[in-house]
Amino acid sequence: MGVQRHTVPLFGQDPVVRMAVLNHRESRLLRLQVDSGHEIGEPLVVGAQDIESSRPAPVYTGCGVGGIPGGDEPPVQLGGRGEGHVALGGGSSLAGPLTYPAIGRKGTGRTTISQERNEDMGKKRLFSGMQPSGEAHLGNYLGALRPWVGLQDEYDCIFCIVDDHAITAGGDPSQMPRHVLDLAVSYLAVGLDPEKSIIFVQSDVPEHTELAWLFNAVTPVGDLERMTQYKDKSQRFESVPAGILNYPILQAADILLYRAEMVPVGEDQRQHLELTRDIARKWNAAYGRELFPEPEAYIGKEVGRILGLDGESKMSKSLGNTVRILAEPDEVWSRVRTAVTDPQRVRRDDPGRPEVCNVFSLHQHFTDDDTIARIDRECRGAEIGCVDCKRILSDNVAEVLAPVRERARELREDPGQIRRILDEGAERAGSIARDTMSRVREGMGLQWRSALEGAAGG
Ligand code: SF4
Repeated sequence: MGVQRHTVPLFGQDPVVRMAVLNHRESRLLRLQVDSGHEIGEPLVVGAQDIESSRPAPVYTGCGVGGIPGGDEPPVQLGGRGEGHVALGGGSSLAGPLTYPAIGRKGTGRTTISQERNEDMGKKRLFSGMQPSGEAHLGNYLGALRPWVGLQDEYDCIFCIVDDHAITAGGDPSQMPRHVLDLAVSYLAVGLDPEKSIIFVQSDVPEHTELAWLFNAVTPVGDLERMTQYKDKSQRFESVPAGILNYPILQAADILLYRAEMVPVGEDQRQHLELTRDIARKWNAAYGRELFPEPEAYIGKEVGRILGLDGESKMSKSLGNTVRILAEPDEVWSRVRTAVTDPQRVRRDDPGRPEVCNVFSLHQHFTDDDTIARIDRECRGAEIGCVDCKRILSDNVAEVLAPVRERARELREDPGQIRRILDEGAERAGSIARDTMSRVREGMGLQWRSALEGAAGG
């Protein structure tokens, strides 16, 4: 049985070593534990255990991090960033990053992995992201952020702030950093948890744009021109920027860089996910590798299209029809009171039609069932006025989001904490991204140095 060698990015200052490998031959997730070598410069010797059976994993012919027995790499300097190598038995590959003990920790002889992240548990990987245009609004919250929070236990989630995408919308570059920070606050305040999920900023991982470029090689222009969003957006330009056309390629790169299998998508993104699946299939076929999975749409509880306060268009910051999720109660009220209602209900004693009223739709997400039933009845009987109805909605929105506002306040008092979370997220995302790119470059003949060295040596 041959021994495969994989580059393992090492990072972090955690006191616990975590790592998992997926043994493809047996489809078993293996748990690694460090048996020795916690001193700077010492090789780590790693043992493996089958997570399901708790039995020692037989596929390991000898594992080491930083100086494989018989290997030629210098030992990894613990405490700093570096790269080590792990020798795995045939048919195994890495499925998760390795963090290792803080600098200078004296080994105790045996460290058992006590914390595991989702990626270590064999869960399907899910990717999603949002453009930074400032704090999230109710449409973002109901359509994406709130469902994402619930996905974190079920999936190995990666949540990205997609600033590379945002540049295609134009806007003032000087505002971008603030918008990134504001969206990060929104992500964290609603309950995206960096202990469960990878949360990071797209431009911190340049492999996104590199992979997008390489995907140009397998993406027909005709496929891009057929995208409905391209047709819509391109109408707004006299001269259409190439980024508008290529936008879905970058989306494909976002997803496939992490070999994500699930993507939560709204109706308006389904076509782009289909293109991502096509790109994965075409790349695998063109370069003779089964590297990329064809990601599937995650279909969650249907929340429908969240219309803005104008009652006509999707809630969108650019249309000015939003309510910020971090707005104080007074601001929520000043926004909600402007909401368009049933256009036929001109006077208070006109009977209303809740089924055509967007205020009533919003009640479905924030108001209890009994009150909704009462509003439905009293609206039809002209017993409740629209102002009172909006006041109930406004109070409920403010109350439901009170813990989110509180958490956001705490986060803003400690911007360093946000920075650390995004830094760690970028490191974890980058570790997966570098592994994917190494395989992509190899597949596409872009690792000329190592290829030539290999040929000369072999
Ligand atoms: S009472 Fe409420 S549900 Fe009825 S039309 Fe007015 S705002 Fe809409």
